[in-house]
Amino acid sequence: MTNHSKIHIIGLTREELTVELQKVGLEAFRTKQVWQWMYGRGATRFDQMSSIAKKQQQMLDEHFIIDRPKIDKDLLSFDGTRKWLLEFEDKNKVETVFIPEEDRGALCVSSQVGCTLTCTFCHTGTQPLVRNLRARDIIGQVMVARDGLNEWNKKREDCLFTNIVMMGMGEPLMNYDNVAKALNIIMDGEGISISKRKITLSTSGVVPLIERCGNELGVNLAVSLHATNDALRDEIVPINKKYPIKELLQACRDYPAANNARRITFEYVMLKGVNDSDADARELVRLLKGIHAKVNLIPFNPWKGAPYECSSRNRINAFADIVNAAGYSAPVRATRGQDIYAACGQLKSDSERAKGQRVDLKAQ
Ligand code: SAH
Ligand code: SF4
Repeated sequence: MTNHSKIHIIGLTREELTVELQKVGLEAFRTKQVWQWMYGRGATRFDQMSSIAKKQQQMLDEHFIIDRPKIDKDLLSFDGTRKWLLEFEDKNKVETVFIPEEDRGALCVSSQVGCTLTCTFCHTGTQPLVRNLRARDIIGQVMVARDGLNEWNKKREDCLFTNIVMMGMGEPLMNYDNVAKALNIIMDGEGISISKRKITLSTSGVVPLIERCGNELGVNLAVSLHATNDALRDEIVPINKKYPIKELLQACRDYPAANNARRITFEYVMLKGVNDSDADARELVRLLKGIHAKVNLIPFNPWKGAPYECSSRNRINAFADIVNAAGYSAPVRATRGQDIYAACGQLKSDSERAKGQRVDLKAQ
């Protein structure tokens, strides 16, 4: 069989994998072995699976393939942020960004190529949706990061890649089935094994799917609020016209996985003169009453042609003070990886023009 006609096994559930193995005459118990090698140890070839006899390794190799998306760019920022531009077989590209911190690190994973929701401050929103990512494409981003960081066979406490945030390109709840399938595989304790407590899904507010996300996946929720009244939110986060603030906040109050220890994050992009006044901050506090919440203030990350500017540092601090004084934690998100185009969706469009002090690890 050529590679072309082989079946890709990344992204299959255990049950689906068992069915495929059995079709070619392999026993069901092989599922567990293959799963552990592939997702637990990062094997990319069947001949690395030393607990499986040679003959079965060959049978696997004849029919199946363990594949990653192709790495088009692999950039390392001076601050340690690492960004991959990944290409799928159909030539579509997405970005995946690893943001290391002192004792942990989060991988920002994409869920779609482009996005259908045209938030006016978001660069991805200017790119027409090309397609939903399949479970395999989503898991592939995580596997590329573990490969690149060389963390497959490290002790868990020595790993820097600890968390996942579904905050890359696309709206994860507009591609719920594939995202859910991928996250269930990523959370599997015999594989990649990143727990639901270390995964955060960010949504612009696809209200009907928020409850399902909490019940079925139990991951942390982040909500891109960005405005405190419907008139402004209708404009900058247009899905608000369908699911206005009141409905969105009710879904947050009802979110099954939220409790005191696991608060909902409200993301709020700071746009100069648009949503950043003291009155906005006070209204935000009023809206969040009764919700176990924290607020993440995001300095607007400008892109060429964007109709906004970022609020001044003083303005952001004054806004944060009001939210803090009301008892909500409101850190200002540090801008990371500026030199490698860390703003959502920018590397993809600007890659040809990219220059500066970044290191292209692929070119070395
Ligand atoms: N579609 C989802 C997740 C991807 S966007 C969502 O909207 O939540 C991840 C976060 O980045 C969102 O809060 C989004 O509003 C924010 N964002 C998008 N473009 C940005 C920009 N140029 N500057 C700052 N934040 C931005
Ligand atoms: Fe899509 Fe999120 Fe960007 Fe809005 S902010 S256009 S939902 S990716």
